[in-house]
Amino acid sequence: MKVSIIGTGYVGLPAGAGLASKGHEVTCVDIDEEKVEKINRGECPIFEEDLPELLEQVVSEGRLEATTDTEEAVKNSDVTFLAVGTPMKEDGSINLDYIKEAAEDVGNALKGKDGYHVVVVKSTVVPTTTEEEIIPILEEESGKSAGEDFGVCMNPEFLREGTALKDFLDPDRIVIGELDERSGETLEKLYRDFEAPILRTEVKAAELIKYASNSLLATKISFINEIGNLCKELGIDVYEVADGVGMDHRIKRDFLNAGCGFGGSCFPKDVRALIKFMEEKEVEPSILESVIDVNTDQKTKPVEILEEKIGDLEGKKVAVLGLAFKPGTDDVRNSPAIDMIQELKDKGAKVKAYDPEAMENMEKIHPDVKYVGSYQEALRGVDAGIIATDWEEFKDIDKDVLDRMENELIVLGRRIWNKQGLNGFKGIAWD
Ligand code: NAD
Repeated sequence: MKVSIIGTGYVGLPAGAGLASKGHEVTCVDIDEEKVEKINRGECPIFEEDLPELLEQVVSEGRLEATTDTEEAVKNSDVTFLAVGTPMKEDGSINLDYIKEAAEDVGNALKGKDGYHVVVVKSTVVPTTTEEEIIPILEEESGKSAGEDFGVCMNPEFLREGTALKDFLDPDRIVIGELDERSGETLEKLYRDFEAPILRTEVKAAELIKYASNSLLATKISFINEIGNLCKELGIDVYEVADGVGMDHRIKRDFLNAGCGFGGSCFPKDVRALIKFMEEKEVEPSILESVIDVNTDQKTKPVEILEEKIGDLEGKKVAVLGLAFKPGTDDVRNSPAIDMIQELKDKGAKVKAYDPEAMENMEKIHPDVKYVGSYQEALRGVDAGIIATDWEEFKDIDKDVLDRMENELIVLGRRIWNKQGLNGFKGIAWD
């Protein structure tokens, strides 16, 4: 099939390369000219496992190209995915500006296009958005009728950054929210070479499945962090507790790793958007409010522990190791490290930072931090350190490095190893 994808970020690009690898002809569209040029040279603009190799291959074989011209891309395809960002507004609600703009462009292109076309909302949008916001724009701009002249589906994406390509190609399930049967059939055909079970639902159910999934995962994290805070008081190893709890097949061990909380471009914004949406619908979001509250506290807990151990942070030198919201990505959106660094600066500490991939992105948020080229350099001459992301390489931090620090203290915001009670190391929710 011929596919166009509007938005070539962490979702659009892996989806584009993935579909091209399945034999589809893909046109990626972005307003960012630099990204478009890079993609057309076969270069990957984001840090993602296996994506650079596949992208280079599908571009060189002529199965994927990029453009800034939405109209041409839509005209030359049968299915168009909307995969632009749906960020969070100041008040926590969803910002639909980008997707509305993209829908306008697509609707406009549909006006002059013959033949049946399916528009697929892949961006995460709160329930009813596709039917109440996107479809009216598509209809108005195209002068055509959804469900008759063109099809519409809502197809949420569950991939994880860092393993985006693998997750896109091998998902647990594919959810297709269909406006009508023909739209759903067309999208199911596009996914025919995928092995995952396909769940076909109504459009707004598909939208909610995405929010409910992310909110439940975020809930598991905040839950275990709360239990972890109790464990720290009692001298219990929260990871042992998580193992025991996770052995129950109804619960599962995943997402029960206590630490300095969740970040990223999805969990914080999706949980908050769902809270806002529920409030609008006058449904009390009490569980989700607590999930956010626990997470907010957890993000700066390492700084609290530092203060307890080495006292006033005014003038102290602190290294923050790990800036990405999780290992395997250069994405710092809502990363706990952002809050930690802010808290350290507010308390008068001098911050040095290191991350194998995410320093450039963090520099845009905290330009006044000293960024260095290795964790060894970051830890040299500081009073203390915090590990905020569990990058593999941090597992090598040992006594040797600690011996060169002034107060010999590293707070582990992430459990990077199973050694307990090591001198010089303090866990956020364990010893
Ligand atoms: P992103 O910010 O990485 O990428 C969005 C891209 O869209 C950018 O390159 C931007 O330049 C482009 N864009 C914006 N407006 C455009 C327009 N009018 N025309 C063409 N291009 C335009 O976003 P992302 O992380 O890929 O997320 C996209 C959507 O997928 C969001 O709704 C997000 O919630 C959802 N999602 C993200 C993830 C994830 O892990 N990042 C996972 C699942 C779902």
